[in-house]
Amino acid sequence: MKREKKTHMQGRLIVFTDLDGTLLDYSTYSYEHSEEGMGLLRERDIPLIFCTSKSYAEVVYFREKTGNTSPFIVENGGAIYIPGGQAALFRRAGRPGQFRNSGGYAVIQLGADYARLRQVFEQIKREFHERVIGFGDMDVRKVASYLNLPPGLAGMAKERRYDEPFILEDPSLLDGIKQFAERRGLRVYPGTRFYHLMGDTDKGIAVKVLVSAYREMYGGLTSAAVGEGKNDEPMFRQVDVPYLVQRPDGKYVDIRMDNIVKIDKVGPEGFTSAVKRLLSTEGLYNGI
Ligand SMILES: [Mg+2]
Repeated sequence: MKREKKTHMQGRLIVFTDLDGTLLDYSTYSYEHSEEGMGLLRERDIPLIFCTSKSYAEVVYFREKTGNTSPFIVENGGAIYIPGGQAALFRRAGRPGQFRNSGGYAVIQLGADYARLRQVFEQIKREFHERVIGFGDMDVRKVASYLNLPPGLAGMAKERRYDEPFILEDPSLLDGIKQFAERRGLRVYPGTRFYHLMGDTDKGIAVKVLVSAYREMYGGLTSAAVGEGKNDEPMFRQVDVPYLVQRPDGKYVDIRMDNIVKIDKVGPEGFTSAVKRLLSTEGLYNGI
């Protein structure tokens, strides 16, 4: 039975969303088709929390472009950023000692420091005969060409703090690299375009912190998430209503969860459909 068929509206709504391939078009990074969904949430004062493998600098850029003011999760759960004005949420998201202030945000770091990741990545390169290439090994021009981004945005993408994206020429090496990383307390995870080396965290760990902070603050809560990739699965597992949108080829990534709601549209159009469906289910929208 699909969770969304039940009347589970309890208190307020919050929505998490992946960026690449979900809120943003997989190849052009356009959010033209997700704008309607974002507007519907904004009008209802429903937080939309970006939860992405993108870097802090990129997320700040897209938050400003889209007028988003909610907290956000960067680099696959590497850290949570809570805007300075949202003090009540800070207090509930953890012990004050966990916070660090940076650029007007309270930061809860969950992942490993980038310097540590690069240290292990250098070992992986030696161990696997230089058949992996990390962001730290590429210049901005190369990152721009891999990501199909203008140099300004590629520079932002390269500013990693908690996660090293990398290219693997031979996928058969993946299991060996995973084990090598795990023995050093790190994880390897496939993202939308790259593999990622990161600390012992994921999107779900960060989502869980925010869901419980909002739940305490609001007294009751329904949480939803929209995504399209394998690295969205941990996020989906922490929310009440997970929405899976299609990849650019119209297919779904293989995620087996009883309550997953499949949206029959690709990326940003799927995002807007998911928002409409959520709001209708909750009795907050009747435009479908
Ligand atoms: Mg994605």
